[in-house]
Amino acid sequence: MPETPAVGREWHLAARPKGWPKPEDFALREAPVAEPGPGQILVRNLFMSVDPYMRGRMDDRPSYVPPFQLDRPLDGGAVGEVIASRADGIAVGDHVLHGLGWREYAVLDAKHATVVDADAAPLSAYLGVLGMPGLTAYAGLLEVASFKEGDAVFVSGAAGAVGSQVGQIARLKGASRVIGSAGSDDKVRALVEEYGFDAAFNYKNGPVAEQLKAAAPDGIDVYFDNVGGEHLEAALERLKPHGRVTVCGMISMYNATEPPAAPRNLGLVIGKRLRLQGMIVTDHAALQPQFHAEVGGWIREGKLHYSETVVKGVDNAVDAFLGMLRGANTGKMVVALGD
Ligand code: NDP
Repeated sequence: MPETPAVGREWHLAARPKGWPKPEDFALREAPVAEPGPGQILVRNLFMSVDPYMRGRMDDRPSYVPPFQLDRPLDGGAVGEVIASRADGIAVGDHVLHGLGWREYAVLDAKHATVVDADAAPLSAYLGVLGMPGLTAYAGLLEVASFKEGDAVFVSGAAGAVGSQVGQIARLKGASRVIGSAGSDDKVRALVEEYGFDAAFNYKNGPVAEQLKAAAPDGIDVYFDNVGGEHLEAALERLKPHGRVTVCGMISMYNATEPPAAPRNLGLVIGKRLRLQGMIVTDHAALQPQFHAEVGGWIREGKLHYSETVVKGVDNAVDAFLGMLRGANTGKMVVALGD
């Protein structure tokens, strides 16, 4: 059993980023590791997640999650091993999923931790394919977009954690055509050859509207938006009457300092009777058991493929976060903190 260390390292927000975050906006600092109080556990983090929504929390503005505080530790999804416990139901040696990432050690109330099975799946999977991004894809497609068999589906950010799962779930549920966009030719190749998309294109190679038209000549029924801007405009153009849009993310705008130029064609929503619906994954917690059972089954049967880009070391966590925003990841970007 690992000994409880006196200090651990944690990432603090040193300055609020303006536009693209810079390494100087973050600081890796040492902090004493507290003993767990009654009902609490001490966790040695093994993997932590870096997610696009964290960029929004670096700005000081009201949102669905509170902003990070300056000179306080960042937080986010993490999986680790319990090294001390004063809580019923969680023992030393258990693995838990919790919300105090961006640090080597975390003390938290056991009620905020979920025990995960390290034998059922690699621990990092609980941050990706079986975790928050996976549920986002599942709920966003099946509940929010009301996906039905035969739909033609377009997803942007298609080689990322959420997008790669959206495309595959659509295929597994009987989509007539699955189209994805991503930011490199290698990602586009992987979408078709590894993830089974029918068509994919690199949005950096030309106007999205033209490339989407070529990939979806008969139009689309569902657009799963991870990107916003030009992608959303192109999708509105290609959507068939009564098409549905899951507005999941708009990553093309997260570091923007000016309002977006697109979409300029929102009026199409009227004539085509389109439905655009925003989503927040935490609203869909009730779907968790069904999601776990179905996606877990697809993974065991080899029907759903997932990848991870793993960056090693807590000192590289900011690089991993910035890399994810730039597209350095295929599948889920995670940071491995263990030895
Ligand atoms: P990803 O794994 O997809 O990583 C982010 C990807 O975004 C990068 O790999 C990059 O890929 C792409 N990207 C970055 N900048 C741009 C740009 N300007 N235009 C197009 N693509 C860009 O992240 P997630 O799967 O975790 O998240 C995907 C989206 O889903 C995000 O918008 C996120 O905010 C949203 N989300 C929303 C949730 C909700 O509850 N509403 C929950 C979880 C995620 P590339 O190389 O292709 O450019």
